[in-house]
Amino acid sequence: MFILNLANNFKYKENIMQTIRGFRDILPEQISLWQKVEKEAILLFEAFGFKEIRIPILEKTELFARSIGEVTDIVEKEMYTFEDRKGDKLTLRPEATASIVRSYIQHKMYTIDPVRKFYMIGPMFRRERPQKGRYRQFYQIDAEVFGIESAYIDSQLIFLLNELFKRLGLTGLSAHINSLGCPECRPSFQKALLDFIESKKDRLCENCLRRMDKNPLRILDCKIADCRKALANAPATLDYLCNDCSDHFDIVKTTLEKQGLDFIVDKSLVRGLDYYTRTAWEIQTTALGAQSAIAGGGRYDGLVKELGGPQTPAIGFAIGFDRLVEVMEQIDKTPEDRPLDLFIVSLGDAAMEKGYHWSCELNQAGIRTEMDFRGKSMKSLMKRADKLSAQYVLIAGENELMENAIVLRNMNTKEQVSLAMENLVPELIKICKNNIEEILRD
Ligand code: AMP
Repeated sequence: MFILNLANNFKYKENIMQTIRGFRDILPEQISLWQKVEKEAILLFEAFGFKEIRIPILEKTELFARSIGEVTDIVEKEMYTFEDRKGDKLTLRPEATASIVRSYIQHKMYTIDPVRKFYMIGPMFRRERPQKGRYRQFYQIDAEVFGIESAYIDSQLIFLLNELFKRLGLTGLSAHINSLGCPECRPSFQKALLDFIESKKDRLCENCLRRMDKNPLRILDCKIADCRKALANAPATLDYLCNDCSDHFDIVKTTLEKQGLDFIVDKSLVRGLDYYTRTAWEIQTTALGAQSAIAGGGRYDGLVKELGGPQTPAIGFAIGFDRLVEVMEQIDKTPEDRPLDLFIVSLGDAAMEKGYHWSCELNQAGIRTEMDFRGKSMKSLMKRADKLSAQYVLIAGENELMENAIVLRNMNTKEQVSLAMENLVPELIKICKNNIEEILRD
């Protein structure tokens, strides 16, 4: 019998459904940091004049192929693309910028006001090799600004990111910035790059060679160590900037300097997407083992036009939400949950019914109230109140109802008072709110 049970047990375990590789649940026990980040980010975005936008998770594949670029790691290897039942080619969004640009154009937002600032928070999907800080469904906090060419916006976005990370208690971050130039200065850079690559051809991987004709800039993204070595002294966009791009980048740098923000000019930073022009940046951390980017952004002055809209300068960034939370976990910034305000111990059917209505009214008023509907004994209900760290326990049994004297016990001081039913809920709201204020003051 025992053996049979054991066998059944194993069979049962084998059948338990699991998440897909690279996908994960974020459990209630982990959520407080996520919520804290979201709250701080939204507060800051609103202060800087951003409005939330919500975009679909699924888009036409073409949108990403045209914006991110056909010959990029994301489009070539990482997108979750499939045909739906009608044969339409669709993709789970691997990033937010393309969809926000699509939305800006589709709704002709530029006709009302070409200057628009958006933020969005949500999941992205890339079929990368899963490891710590890298998932196949991951979350980004994304910001985009349309209609402003001025370099002050570039600096302001880096300033905003820095402010958010400061508020969240992060230290040890480094901002790497670069300028990728514009269509004016790109051709001379590309020529120099191609000449250089030609001279290193025999040391490059097959993928790099394939990209030589199609998109030589992407060769600079290659992660293979031998290719990186061969490309160590490759020409940099910074050395080929036209006067306008050079002036633009100078303003970004001097503004950041004047604001006291540290940064490293990193000539090798190219970012993995095709649409970037001029300023590009990454905020890196060493807190997750090897140096990794916790946020990245850049200007994309050509993308709105490329996707069918009017010529509109634009710039944005994305924060890796999962990585941000992982860094915060390390510095132990988990906010403590506010304890339960009130636990209602209802004994008997009549008290259960009264307790139910009281608890709903209290919840409605923002008081965190719990009760137990399983008809448990006084002793086990008091245990549960303790487990939930209830600040107060309301005790309503048949006697208390009959005598119209409901007992309220302060679980910290152990003091008890009797309350009449007539004015019970407003009285409880008053007491619990005072207590919440005291907790928040401490
Ligand atoms: P990107 O859109 O590639 O510029 O990425 C912006 C940020 O998203 C990066 O700096 C990372 O922090 C984060 N990120 C990108 N890919 C992943 C991933 N697969 N898993 C977790 N975070 C990611």
